[in-house]
Amino acid sequence: MTDLSHATALLTIDVGAIVANWRRLSLLVGAAETAAVVKADCYGLGMEHVAPALFEAGARSFFVACVDEGIALRRAVPGAVIFVLSGPLGGDEGEFAAHGLIPVLNSLAQITGWAAFAKKGSGAPAAALHIDTGMNRLGLAEAELERLTAKPEVLASIRPITVMSHLACADDSDSPMNAKQLVTLRRLSAALPAMPQSIAASAGIFLGRGFHLGMVRPGAALYGLNPMQGRPNPMTQVVRLQGKIAQVRDVDSPMTVGYGATHRVEGRRRLATVVVGYADGWFRSLSNRGHGMIGGVKVPVVGRVSMDLTTFDVTDVPVEQAHPGALIDLIGPGHTVDDVAAEAGTIGYEVLTALGRRYHRRWIGTEA
Ligand SMILES: *Cc1c(COP(=O)(O)O)cnc(C)c1O
Repeated sequence: MTDLSHATALLTIDVGAIVANWRRLSLLVGAAETAAVVKADCYGLGMEHVAPALFEAGARSFFVACVDEGIALRRAVPGAVIFVLSGPLGGDEGEFAAHGLIPVLNSLAQITGWAAFAKKGSGAPAAALHIDTGMNRLGLAEAELERLTAKPEVLASIRPITVMSHLACADDSDSPMNAKQLVTLRRLSAALPAMPQSIAASAGIFLGRGFHLGMVRPGAALYGLNPMQGRPNPMTQVVRLQGKIAQVRDVDSPMTVGYGATHRVEGRRRLATVVVGYADGWFRSLSNRGHGMIGGVKVPVVGRVSMDLTTFDVTDVPVEQAHPGALIDLIGPGHTVDDVAAEAGTIGYEVLTALGRRYHRRWIGTEA
């Protein structure tokens, strides 16, 4: 049992739910491989705890953002096939080889560098090729791909095992960008040796079978975010965040609450101040907009969120449920990460990756 006596907030991460989400997607995509995107410490949920459970469940290919994350993942999951999305960034090819990391090659410069490194014959791992089809972020443009395919010896030396692209508008199933990007990837891949293709992240999986190709690359959906804008969320919730009440006070008009006195008290109210603030990733934009839950009752944020503290109006909650030391659900049943994101004016990805370092973390549902 975790000692909560000095925890300001408790973050519970349901690893069993993450595994269940991976299995659901894997079932949905049938023959396509379901990789797991575990960059940014599994979107803030703890790679060391989550990635081994996904491997145990059958996931083999993993995507991280950078070499440091790849090295950490290699330690946590020795048997993983690890793709590094940023690829080599100048002179670090040896690190890829030393830790068996597969670079995603995003530019001709990276390809040239990797080819030169592989030529030294030091057992360079295979590589993935990234073709841009509309994001204009990373990946080879069509003209660059033509220059590459004109040099079969370079292409052969980098040993590409998969070719990937990334969708710009997958969360909008009506966007014509989706089909256009898929068609472009298929057309450009035809100039390459036959190898598995990949274009779908979480949202792309739900665009239909045609998008699954050889491999899908979900991140957000594994962690419970809704991959389908405006439709019911098919994924299981993963995160519960509970903040501890430090103080409860009775107030009356004409008092105000917090910095800038932005909330005016109307009548007799009871307020509870929780030890969670914007330094914890509980965004300042939740000021006078966000809410928490106590026993199924909504408790609104009143006044500005400050660095370490947020004040809630708990007037509607029975006194015995709102006392110093009691917990308010900030994220949890009936109030998802996506809900908090909407209230904060951002996306669930940012809420997850901003989850504070001060929270006491507890991982549940890991036993096989
Ligand atoms: C982050 C990322 C993913 C995962 O995206 P989600 O929307 O979280 O599923 C997949 N592919 C690439 C290239 C990414 O950068």
